[in-house]
Amino acid sequence: MTKMPTIARVAIDNGPDKLLDYAIPAGIQGRIAIGSRVTAPLGNAIRPGYVVEMTDESEFPKLKDLHGVVGRGSFLTPKLLELSDWVSQYYMASREQVLRAFLPAAVRRKGQAHKVVTIVSVAEGVKAEDVEALTGRQLEVIKELRLHGPTELQELLRKCGCSVSPVKTLERNGLLSLQREERMRNPLAGNTILRTKNLDLMPEQESALADIASAMAACEGSGGEPHVVLLHGVTGSGKTEVYLQAIDRVLAQGKGAIVLVPEISLTPQTVERFVGRFGARAAVLHSRLSDGERHDEWHRIREGKADIVIGARSAVFAPLGSLGLIVVDEEHENSYKQEDVPRYSARDVAVMRGHIERCAVVLGSATPSLESWKNAKTGKYKLSVLPRRADDRKMPMMRVVDMRLQSADEKRRGILSPDLIEAIRLRLERAEQVILFLNRRGYSSSLMCPNCGFVASCENCSVSYTYHRTEESLICHLCGDSRKLPLKCPGCSDPGFKYSGIGTQRVEATVKACFPHASVQRMDADVTQRKHSHASILGEFRSGKTDILIGTQMIAKGLHFPNVTLVGVVFADLSLHMPDFRAGERTFQLLAQVAGRAGRGDVSGEVIVQTYTPFHAAVQAARRLEYENFCDQELEFRKELTYPPFGHLACLLVRGKQENKVSFCASTLASRIQKKAGAEVIVADAVPAPIERIRSEYRYQVILRSVSAVKMRELINGAMKDLSLPKGVHCSIDMDAVSLM
Ligand code: ADP
Ligand code: ZN
Repeated sequence: MTKMPTIARVAIDNGPDKLLDYAIPAGIQGRIAIGSRVTAPLGNAIRPGYVVEMTDESEFPKLKDLHGVVGRGSFLTPKLLELSDWVSQYYMASREQVLRAFLPAAVRRKGQAHKVVTIVSVAEGVKAEDVEALTGRQLEVIKELRLHGPTELQELLRKCGCSVSPVKTLERNGLLSLQREERMRNPLAGNTILRTKNLDLMPEQESALADIASAMAACEGSGGEPHVVLLHGVTGSGKTEVYLQAIDRVLAQGKGAIVLVPEISLTPQTVERFVGRFGARAAVLHSRLSDGERHDEWHRIREGKADIVIGARSAVFAPLGSLGLIVVDEEHENSYKQEDVPRYSARDVAVMRGHIERCAVVLGSATPSLESWKNAKTGKYKLSVLPRRADDRKMPMMRVVDMRLQSADEKRRGILSPDLIEAIRLRLERAEQVILFLNRRGYSSSLMCPNCGFVASCENCSVSYTYHRTEESLICHLCGDSRKLPLKCPGCSDPGFKYSGIGTQRVEATVKACFPHASVQRMDADVTQRKHSHASILGEFRSGKTDILIGTQMIAKGLHFPNVTLVGVVFADLSLHMPDFRAGERTFQLLAQVAGRAGRGDVSGEVIVQTYTPFHAAVQAARRLEYENFCDQELEFRKELTYPPFGHLACLLVRGKQENKVSFCASTLASRIQKKAGAEVIVADAVPAPIERIRSEYRYQVILRSVSAVKMRELINGAMKDLSLPKGVHCSIDMDAVSLM
């Protein structure tokens, strides 16, 4: 007989960064496994935590005993623990912080259990004469139960219009039996979703499915075949149908699947497509669930009652026992990166989990990220392409309007070009609908000449300078170069060279001035927080009440409006001149996404893009829908400057309320790292972040680039270890940073 391990290594919730050893007392031996939830003494308190490892040896001679075990069985599989170890090391977060991301708060919380209800039924062997002497109320209860069978207590009381006391009396007299039962809270309860069947696939879909099947087979064998498939297909090309049928095969093998979807695309429509095909075997995890629903869905998955999980980012950690497939839809989406500790990328974690669990991974997108594209080009991933729309509709025409050539006009205020106005007028006349899209990413800090469109950018780094208002200066936050704000435009000598913000409100006012009879609705973060909800604005638009919908990113994703025949991109430069080396890639993705919104019905669509830089590669490539050309060109540029995907980029952020302290700490950190860095790691100087202050905290950043993630990590870990930050100053590390703001 093998001896049970006697020592548990525990990650204490909100505890120290390291794992602590505890002796396993005889009383709970056998009830503890790796992944068990336990309580343990720390200082003077008893604290909850997880068993991460089990062993027989500890470097500490005297160990305290574990206090107890919480719940039944293990919360995490050994493979998930292995994954958590990788996440912890790669993203430089403590094991405990990582485990917190793995388990929803609703699951971790002590005492949070399934909802328990009381079921009342007539006791066995009750005869007619037993009932004779009952009071009216009591008799009514018995009659009700005889008529409708066992009933939930609350419902019974409501139906009979009585208090609990007759029920209690009847139970005491042996006429009723009361049973407690766990109830699952189901987020989809009350919805009737029609079941759907597999469609006959088109030849391209068949071959994509075959590619996924070989990736699944490759996981079984030991050959060098890739286990990741990059599915590149335009919007509407039938990717989702391929996912559905791939999952069907996974289920036939007795395994489960995870489907990740960006939070913003996780609409009821999306969920219905999966639930419609797989029914109650599908579980849903997203941020709008109540704690109770999340708790129950999670346990349904862990207990194997649901083996398909549809969810946002954190669903990549769903506790499925046996995985056959992970799908990451719209894999290029930035929202897969968590911006809080642990700062993981769900897409990259999905690929890693696939590796650990030996399951296939499908990354799907109309505009794959350059990271995935490069992996497909080099053969690390299998590339599968769906080149046309499933319904054979044409992609809309895209027209680029050069805003530099537009004359100034009081009414249009440089926001709507005559071309766009004419196109809108035509749609209103034909009772078709229009979407005006402002690709504003929350904050725009670069400086642009409103006359010629000139944008100052750093010659070393090819990113726009960030305008820092307080010092009236331009700073490149990749290399630290800084210069004074020019008094007039270096391009055309216009003295009005300064940033002038453009927001959805200004667009709305202008549209209303130009089209006083049209019904116009604005949808952005401000509006959806207030009066109208997201859904009701979209509902009104869908029903045709609204003619023109103006919005930000929110309206660019996965929505189907058959009557929209025109999409106008008001100002493409907003995302093009972000001080970010990914600005071109993101603009291309956005424009391609937006193009997918137009012409989903019977009438073909048109897209008008207004810009000051009509010849920018991203704009031109989007116009012609030349994804490959754009990527190849963009990869050249990334390679030259060791930007991802040719290297890793980490961003250290130092923040605090006192600017001098923050800037001093950031510079000290940067120079320490620079001193130790070999030729393999490029370390920039400390500079203010493009967003200098958030919630009255100053922010400075140090950016590192290297081909070797390991080298970079060692360097950072080394510098952080003996760095003691003054009170009120914090430092965070963002590995493979996506947002550099
Ligand atoms: P994507 O996920 O690439 O945007 P979808 O899977 O949503 O594409 O497909 C777009 C539309 O085409 C959907 O209405 C879908 O039902 C339909 N469709 C997909 N594949 C087929 C097929 N093989 N035969 C008929 N219709 C299909
Ligand atoms: Zn620079």
